[in-house]
Amino acid sequence: MRLKGNLMMQIFIAFGLAIVLGAVFGPSIEVLQPLGDLFLRLIKFIIAPLILASLVVGIASTGDPKQLGRIGLKTIVFYLATSAVAVTIGLAFAYLISPGKGLTLTVPETTAEVNETGGVIATLLNIIPENPFEALATGNILQVIFFAIFIGLAITLVGKPAQPVLRFFEGFAEVMYKITGIIMWVAPIGVLGLVAPVVGQYGVAVLMPLLKVILAVAIACAVHALFVYSMLVKRFAKISPLKFFKGIAPAAAVAFSTCSSSGTLPVTLKNTQENLGVSRKISSFVLPLGATINMDGTAIYQGIAVVFIAQFYGLELSFLQLLAVILTTVLASIGAAGVPGAGLVMLAMVLTAANMPLEGIALIAGVDRILDMFRTSVNVMGDAAGSVVVAASEDELWVDELAGENLLDAMT
Ligand code: ASP
Repeated sequence: MRLKGNLMMQIFIAFGLAIVLGAVFGPSIEVLQPLGDLFLRLIKFIIAPLILASLVVGIASTGDPKQLGRIGLKTIVFYLATSAVAVTIGLAFAYLISPGKGLTLTVPETTAEVNETGGVIATLLNIIPENPFEALATGNILQVIFFAIFIGLAITLVGKPAQPVLRFFEGFAEVMYKITGIIMWVAPIGVLGLVAPVVGQYGVAVLMPLLKVILAVAIACAVHALFVYSMLVKRFAKISPLKFFKGIAPAAAVAFSTCSSSGTLPVTLKNTQENLGVSRKISSFVLPLGATINMDGTAIYQGIAVVFIAQFYGLELSFLQLLAVILTTVLASIGAAGVPGAGLVMLAMVLTAANMPLEGIALIAGVDRILDMFRTSVNVMGDAAGSVVVAASEDELWVDELAGENLLDAMT
């Protein structure tokens, strides 16, 4: 379909237009926000049923708890390792660019809200829903995953009598995929409505004092994506980096505009299945998990933010403090949801663990939305890279009939 083929082009045009309109009209371009909200609501409404249906089908068709365990283990190892690399790259670029040296800022009064997270054990226990329907209703992704895994496993164990249930979920999943496809038609309008107000609101003048932080985050994100993901998908899946980035570009663009990797999930699923050939079985398991527990872009941001704050306050970070930053960042990303601004809340945990002044958050809060755009794109690309690598290791690339349907279109 032509409409699909032009989607990427349309998204890019929408981006360009958003920047021009934002720059010309300034804050008044906020009138376009409802268009962005329309798109956001559309993709959000599909998330919970889409994950539930596709994951149940994925798990039930695996039919082998051992394989499931193996896939789960590979996924988690991939995610933790890439996050650790990401935060290290963030730290390295922060020292290279020194964004906080010689800076005088008037710190706004407001600090980020710091949620009580209750530590690692509570986070892990919280994966088990007390009420699965509440999990669906509130869109708690990890809990929905838990519920879906159990339904899928139980369908396999029950066997024949449970086949109608499986067929229901198969049909339901198809319907959800179709809805996702329809929603994508309005993606360019959504991107316009989301990006223009941000450009209009911030303008160049507001960004100037923190330009170095923004640059550091943008460059480190680009380096991480271009080197780490290119290397991984080429080495483990024999997919050329160009093809990978082209295939995942629409999802990255949506992530950039929405600042939510959970919200982008339907698009990420679609892109990895159709453009990168990841089977539904793998993508429906690896990607929802990644949207909540894997945040490479956010990890990069944590590294840079911590060094920035230290430099601003004239503090030297010890090796142990740096280690604490790496560890808490990797762990905090498990509990944090893929929603706008989550990284800023995580920063509070990381600063506490490294024994640093929490007020530092206020320094960076003013431009957090801009930083969020870069980091969320990388978060989503990281999840996609994970799904490609895990799929390759399980011989699950290009096995579904659907794969490639959209490939030529996406390349145009
Ligand atoms: N917005 C990011 C995401 O959804 C999380 C963050 O704030 O860093 O992936």
